[in-house]
Amino acid sequence: MKYRSTRSNLEVTASQAILKGLSDDGGLFVPVKAPSLDRSLEELSNMDYRQVAYEVMKLYLTDFTEEELKNCINSAYDDKFDTPQIAPVVKKDGAYYLELFHGKTIAFKDMALSILPHLLITSARKNQVKNQIVILTATSGDTGKAALAGFADVPGTKIIVFYPKDGVSPIQKLQMVTQKGDNTFVVGVDGNFDDCQTGVKKMFHDPQLAKTLSEAGCQFSSANSINIGRLTPQIVYYVYAYTRLLKAGELKAGEPMNVAVPTGNFGNILAAYYAKLAGLPVGKLICASNENRVLYDFFNTGTYDRNREFVLTSSPSMDILISSNLERLIYLIAGESAEKNTALMERLSKEGVYSITEDMRAKLNDFYGGYATEEETAGRIGSMYQKERYVLDPHTAVASAVYEKYLDGTGDHTKTLIVSTASPYKFTRSVMNAIDPACKEMTDFELADRLCEMSGTEIPEAIREIRNAPVRHRSVCSVEDMESAVKNFLGV
Ligand SMILES: *Cc1c(COP(=O)(O)O)cnc(C)c1O
Repeated sequence: MKYRSTRSNLEVTASQAILKGLSDDGGLFVPVKAPSLDRSLEELSNMDYRQVAYEVMKLYLTDFTEEELKNCINSAYDDKFDTPQIAPVVKKDGAYYLELFHGKTIAFKDMALSILPHLLITSARKNQVKNQIVILTATSGDTGKAALAGFADVPGTKIIVFYPKDGVSPIQKLQMVTQKGDNTFVVGVDGNFDDCQTGVKKMFHDPQLAKTLSEAGCQFSSANSINIGRLTPQIVYYVYAYTRLLKAGELKAGEPMNVAVPTGNFGNILAAYYAKLAGLPVGKLICASNENRVLYDFFNTGTYDRNREFVLTSSPSMDILISSNLERLIYLIAGESAEKNTALMERLSKEGVYSITEDMRAKLNDFYGGYATEEETAGRIGSMYQKERYVLDPHTAVASAVYEKYLDGTGDHTKTLIVSTASPYKFTRSVMNAIDPACKEMTDFELADRLCEMSGTEIPEAIREIRNAPVRHRSVCSVEDMESAVKNFLGV
């Protein structure tokens, strides 16, 4: 199966798409034809996570041999995760929570970023690439650490991470600036996440910079969620979750399952849509936003408008005004027309706004856009704790609050999977504020101790290990200086 750019008719293999990240024309790679699951749901329900991962990913990465793909999967989903289930599903307060935070950095980015380095290195080998791979990435908090953890000291790679210096949680920041590995470089940017992402995209598209790098034996690649090496591993856990519920007798084969996904860059929920296209019985895709409700407005009006105030919320990984992966959906609903998609994306970059046609809107019926305010999010953390003694992180709480609104508004009682994207230990301050405001004066680590007492859960290794770790990255730069920071680090 080939991949095609959303902005031209350029076609590449899966391994080439993984190596490139973004297409040269600025487009994203999409499967030329959506594949279908070739195992029954019953068969899949008797497989473990790694086996399901193979059955799903083999459909998309067709130029990987069985051995190559299984090696990648086995190197990724091992005891780096704190449970052999890798992605457990738990039932709380009438819905199912898919816990994607059992990896090294206790957020869902680990699901894809623990396998991406292996997919990349395998792809480089398959394509006779001799250059050093330089991972260049912008992060709103979680991607950065998960990418750093995945790539640290991987031979043949370097990784550079830009984060908004005041736009991530203290724990997220500490996780990144204490990162070990001689091939890692972490820089705080005087700007927000979109500034970081725009800066990174500019470097990717700069032919002069590409030439300079190539002369020095390097080439860029992306670890951001636009890479199909990130997207395909994310399809896996939807299939896995459905088949666990099937096995537990919570669902009957073929019965639809709604999903509610806390959304920022639109990667996670797009993976759920791809799972649906592959034949998984997914009903509604509930796209949950925080107060940066650009996607809510898009689904409800057909106009995507990033010209608005950027709000810093308690769910920073969703503080995004340009959801890059949405382009793949736009391309699909535009009838896979690169021309129509390109016109809309050009309007987005020039004017910050575009509107889709009624025909296109009609194809978005599977999606429901909702949002939760800061107050509703905190309220949901509190009410879930009161009912179940189960602690939601703010991102998951956004999805849970939106799901409650969805239920109220539609009365649709289809069984629903709420995607739980981070451990509450990663956002202890917002979480504890919502549960017990008396904790206000505590330090972040005291809060973690308190959370541990109140929830009866263990403090994850990811938090324990940064308690006394030395800061290793102190660089800060302006948006304009991102390129020189890259050149300095690479010595070009
Ligand atoms: C990245 C992230 C999200 C948003 O996921 P997208 O794929 O960007 O939509 C939600 N929650 C957490 C904790 C994240 O790290």
